[in-house]
Amino acid sequence: MIIAKTIREVRENIAQWRREGFSVGLVPTMGYLHEGHASLVDRAVADCDRVVVSDFVNPTQFAPNEDLESYPRDFGHDCKLLEEHGCDMVFYPSVEEMYAPNAATYVEILDEMPKQLCGKTRPIHFRGVCTVVSKLFNIVQPDKAFFGQKDAQQLAVIRRMVRDLSYGIEIVGCPIVRENDGLAKSSRNTYLDANERKAALVLSKAVFRGEYLVKSGVTDSEKVLAEMTAIISAEPLAKIDYVSAVDGETMLPVDAITNGVLVAMAVYIGKTRLIDNFIAGGPK
Ligand code: AMP
Repeated sequence: MIIAKTIREVRENIAQWRREGFSVGLVPTMGYLHEGHASLVDRAVADCDRVVVSDFVNPTQFAPNEDLESYPRDFGHDCKLLEEHGCDMVFYPSVEEMYAPNAATYVEILDEMPKQLCGKTRPIHFRGVCTVVSKLFNIVQPDKAFFGQKDAQQLAVIRRMVRDLSYGIEIVGCPIVRENDGLAKSSRNTYLDANERKAALVLSKAVFRGEYLVKSGVTDSEKVLAEMTAIISAEPLAKIDYVSAVDGETMLPVDAITNGVLVAMAVYIGKTRLIDNFIAGGPK
């Protein structure tokens, strides 16, 4: 596996692969990799001749009060996992390699969708995500890029950016990978102490209950969200940021949960903010 720390190295390797006629897949990550990330790499390896994984904690998507400094990192472990899953090149740039000191150009969707759900508590988050993913697309120029359904709003935002800016890149959404007890895998789960780890199960419990209700034919958002909210509120360590049913593309609230509707939540367990979701009728 090639470890590339500079944009130049990435471009040289990609150019060589293109000369050899290979297709290229990209998996953007912030590192501290787990089986959720690995599932994206597996899908990329299955779909593409060569796979690039970026491992970069992107400062522009963190607000000053967020966890940029404490975000977990373990590049040695990441390389081991990536090698085991057949990644061909990991792009591991420094902040200075990605952003010039006076970098001031951003990619931002001027619409309601990035302001909904996570955008309410994280107003600059999706601008940072779009900017870094856009840069990664320009550096790697992949045929396909792979994103997790776990970050459902991010996936919708990236699809919109790709459409609006005519990136000729296919965006592949991949299912949520969970721990055995249901908790969605996340690098941030490492922040949880033993009691919080138990308490965090309310997210997946609420998701499974909501999914069950919708599958049983309940379509009234209010009813489904009320039951999900009650499950989370019963846990003293949990504080709800949002539990919402929204249109899968616009991210605007809906009254009826029909196929394609995203039912998503963000919940603080102690100081750790976790997210989870399901799509009615399953992802398209
Ligand atoms: P992150 O490193 O958290 O920025 O995540 C990088 C990519 O991995 C994103 O596309 C995430 O949606 C995806 N991802 C993270 N956790 C999971 C999970 N539990 N299941 C599936 N995909 C995931």
